[in-house]
Amino acid sequence: MSRIRNFLPQQYEQTGELPINHNYLRQQFSDYPQILEKIGDLVSRCDYTLGSEVDRFESRIRDLTGSRNAIGVGSGTDALFLSLKALGIGPGDEVITTPFTFFATIGAISTTGARPVFVDANWDYNIDASKLAAVLTEKTKAVVPVHWGGFACAMDEITNFCQAHKLSLVEDACHGIRAEFRGKALGTFGDTGCFSMHPLKNLNVWGDGGYIVTDQDDLADQLRLLRNHGLANRNEAIIWAYNSRLDTLQAIVANHLLEKIDEITTARIANAALYDNLLADVEEIDVPTRPNDIKQVYHLYVVRAQRRDELQAYLISKGVDAKVHYPIPMHLQPASSEFGYKMGDFPVAEELCRSVISLPVHEFVSVDQIEFVAQEIKAFYA
Ligand SMILES: *Cc1c(COP(=O)(O)O)cnc(C)c1O
Repeated sequence: MSRIRNFLPQQYEQTGELPINHNYLRQQFSDYPQILEKIGDLVSRCDYTLGSEVDRFESRIRDLTGSRNAIGVGSGTDALFLSLKALGIGPGDEVITTPFTFFATIGAISTTGARPVFVDANWDYNIDASKLAAVLTEKTKAVVPVHWGGFACAMDEITNFCQAHKLSLVEDACHGIRAEFRGKALGTFGDTGCFSMHPLKNLNVWGDGGYIVTDQDDLADQLRLLRNHGLANRNEAIIWAYNSRLDTLQAIVANHLLEKIDEITTARIANAALYDNLLADVEEIDVPTRPNDIKQVYHLYVVRAQRRDELQAYLISKGVDAKVHYPIPMHLQPASSEFGYKMGDFPVAEELCRSVISLPVHEFVSVDQIEFVAQEIKAFYA
């Protein structure tokens, strides 16, 4: 095996070059001198760890979500991991989740020592709540639903299931800032809701960052201990813990961008609606249904396509950065071999991995560009 390097992920490498790209970071931070100025102020105050910028960030997240507590942490992955730790999940426990997700969901479960137990997805790309009961055992401790692309899971069924069986509920809302289910913010249904500010998320920073929301004050305290060495004050550790604070520099970037989060969200929703319209009559494309009690924020705009790989190559040749999130389901990853799953175990998730395609939907894609993408998709199938 070759050595593992600090590779530049493909999403940065390829995408910068295509005219209709997925990666819009240069545009996103074109006003970066304003951020640098705020960082300059920080340097004069020496307020480098947690401090007032993180306080301000957490207070704004409480306002945005309506949650009683927000806790800034090092990443979305840590938001999930620390939530599970705070809820007492560890070796010998089972945690139910979906195989159609990003690696971090499974990594967070697995690194607590618990075993991820998969349940197939639905055609809406999220976990199939009707299949939860079938995998319940004495060891089941928690459910981690993933709101894929910022589209709410069936939170009524999932919360009922967790209450009925006294299971913890940790929402992977890493795609879901400003998203809602029946008027309530995603992330506020579970014991905790976990969010990421990775550079390619809807609210993004200059590296890694994440946060947790919870209405339970005791759990919030536990999480504040877990992210900061277990310290109750400068000289006393209440528990032995981690160092996963939200970096104060990243909190400055996040606070800056939070001013625009509603603009960002509205633009993504409008772009998706335009795609929906333009693709509605393309027989080879399956656009998922859009229930009107769900506010979807389109971290990704995902549809299913016939001859997906050919379509993707065609679109790239036309300058459109079509992507696949993701081609291999989590139960078939090499890292999952110890769990004993095989191809065929989760037919919907497997079919999604074969057929989904993501089209650029971020706030800097123009109406003309979206029309061009739709035209090229029609040209491909014609
Ligand atoms: C990005 C992501 C995470 C993890 O976020 P990081 O901040 O990169 O650690 C977790 N779950 C999902 C579904 C994600 O897309």
